[in-house]
Amino acid sequence: MSKYWNKKINSATPYVAGEQPKPGQKVIKLNTNENPYPPSPRVREVLADFDIADLRLYPNTGSDIVRDAVAKVYGLTRDNVFVGNGSDEVLALCWQTFFEKEYNTGKAVLVPDISYSFYPVFSSFYDVRCECVPLREGFYIDPEDYCGRECCGIAIANPNAPTARLMPLDDIRKILDANPDVPVLIDEAYADFAEGYTTAASLINEYKNLIVVMTLSKSYSLAGIRMGFAMGDPELITGLTMARDSFNSYPGDRVAQKVAEAALLDREYWEETCKKIIATRKWTESELVKLGFILTDSQANFVWAKPPKQIDAQTLYNALKSKGILIRYFNKPVICDYLRITIGTDDEMAALMDAIREEL
Ligand SMILES: *Cc1c(COP(=O)(O)O)cnc(C)c1O
Repeated sequence: MSKYWNKKINSATPYVAGEQPKPGQKVIKLNTNENPYPPSPRVREVLADFDIADLRLYPNTGSDIVRDAVAKVYGLTRDNVFVGNGSDEVLALCWQTFFEKEYNTGKAVLVPDISYSFYPVFSSFYDVRCECVPLREGFYIDPEDYCGRECCGIAIANPNAPTARLMPLDDIRKILDANPDVPVLIDEAYADFAEGYTTAASLINEYKNLIVVMTLSKSYSLAGIRMGFAMGDPELITGLTMARDSFNSYPGDRVAQKVAEAALLDREYWEETCKKIIATRKWTESELVKLGFILTDSQANFVWAKPPKQIDAQTLYNALKSKGILIRYFNKPVICDYLRITIGTDDEMAALMDAIREEL
């Protein structure tokens, strides 16, 4: 608290990110869903070729080379794509652009009660009323819970975090069909790790109210450059651009734009990396099940696991931490029995399994 802060900051409850090890500290880091593999080798070439004299100049405001790369990958056009400084920024701008302030409407944005914990933070920071819709048994999102309800918008992470469960495209259609008059945001931070799922971006030409948000932090191994994007009807993209230009006109720097473009266009490397992570996820799941863990069917680059009776989630989290293995534990009702474990390399996951076995 400070008398120099305004009321908003004095009452804010910010998002808490997973802990970052100190420089030089040796840990197995499985706590913030980063990719264990380096980015595409094309990134090194782009950085080697980069002319530092270009850094004198402001970057292109829209990150148009990145927009074009995204459009190419998803069969869209540049005016369907918005680029921001990480998808957290893109999500923040979506909240400011699409969801109505509580003092203007009685209607809330609907979000699952167990989901990305940034959603309630954005809501409160931007004065949007947020209604948390309870998940069903087994962390299942029932599309019917989002149909026929008064709201100013809907936001759902798919696959959901931290539960790792995927909602099929048909269920997203149901929600879109039932809510033609409000924006529906699908946060696909982890969709590239879902097997047999077609991105909701494939529905953009059918639904004017659909906005799909993605990031380069996970499947492209670029959490360090901060690049995220949204895809939707040009009308929605124009709204986001207006919000951006009322906040920060240059969210993508010159280096990040080049790097993101190169990584997006290297489809072969991207596919190979996603496949490796999916294979390691399956191995990790089967090993955990053998030890008596209860898991959801993960379609992400992490698993959501409840330890067997011998040990509770918090004790196991602390034990692993003392051995230099960081995973994520949420001290909150319902989810405090579970652990979120990011998929690392095969060696990292083998070390994790050894460490867990020692605790049981
Ligand atoms: C990681 C994550 C993001 C944020 O990604 P950045 O692009 O790194 O800001 C957004 N949504 C969900 C659900 C995430 O897990």
